Amino acid sequence: MADTAIEWAGKSWNPIVGCKVISPGCTNCYAMRLAPRLAAMGQAKYAGLTRGGRAGPVWNGRFALDAAALDLPFRWQKPATIFVNSMGDLFLEGVPAEAVDRVLAVAALTPRHDYVLLTKRADRMQAHFEAGLSDRGTPRRLMAIEDQMQAFTTFGVETVPAWPLPNLWLGVSVENRAQLGRIDQLRRTPAAVRLISIEPLLEDLGPIDLAGIDWVIVGGESGPNARPVHPDWVRSIRDQCLAAGVAFFFKQWGGWRVIYDRDADDPDWRQSGEIARRNPRGRWLNLAGGHGFHGDRLVYVVPSGKHAAGRKLDGQVWDRRPARKVAA
Ligand code: SF4
Repeated sequence: MADTAIEWAGKSWNPIVGCKVISPGCTNCYAMRLAPRLAAMGQAKYAGLTRGGRAGPVWNGRFALDAAALDLPFRWQKPATIFVNSMGDLFLEGVPAEAVDRVLAVAALTPRHDYVLLTKRADRMQAHFEAGLSDRGTPRRLMAIEDQMQAFTTFGVETVPAWPLPNLWLGVSVENRAQLGRIDQLRRTPAAVRLISIEPLLEDLGPIDLAGIDWVIVGGESGPNARPVHPDWVRSIRDQCLAAGVAFFFKQWGGWRVIYDRDADDPDWRQSGEIARRNPRGRWLNLAGGHGFHGDRLVYVVPSGKHAAGRKLDGQVWDRRPARKVAA
């Protein structure tokens, strides 16, 4: 893997691929659709990771290690923000701890890059990083990573990493209120930078505890069967980030765009019937996520290409990100 179109990263890197659906945010998983196509194009590591489902391919829980991909960050001379495992979840059940540590060893040995590691298995990530201290007071996880660093001596890099690794940004994906507990698990995980990826945003998340969080990325869903996002859900998260001093990044609206905001555009509701008649492929969306012509803060959304829908919120691009923890 190499350059990526993901707005907040420069490269994606997939030393371990494969996954299993775990929560509603996975329903239209882009990687799950892409994996069999990559396998058909001859990328062997993606073969056998999915089965055919009625609605398309579905991860089968298998994973594959790609030893050849492990070296890639050493060869990328230009400092980059690297999205780790865009084609799976590094903390998928069954991935050996040694394999995870080998990935982390590459991050430790290439401090010119920042590594963004996102998971929906926040419990497994917490357990991995919370390995405790040795008798000499050294973090056991750091010792395990240092063991795996020996595999890369040919690159001639010698570093004694700080702990937590300053260039390793750990994050959890959260799509609805039921998954907010992942943020508590992230908070308990030792990390130099902590982030929350709220994509696809599927409902109003309500109040979010942002203590200990450095970065929040929000996005609507794109691709086939995308689910629309209400602008007030995004505004609520943005406003909480601004109040808490947390960097806020709005990635995209996704596959739908708002063409009519009943309260803002038409307080006496005169145009609502006409809007719906003229745009039969659209639908109503209220604050609670319902699609009938009822409820608070009704907007009308229509299918749209991701690029046409854009990524401005209230006329502004939100591109904030935390400062690097490693000197350039
Ligand atoms: S955890 Fe991520 S990679 Fe795995 S199925 Fe869900 S969205 Fe896809």
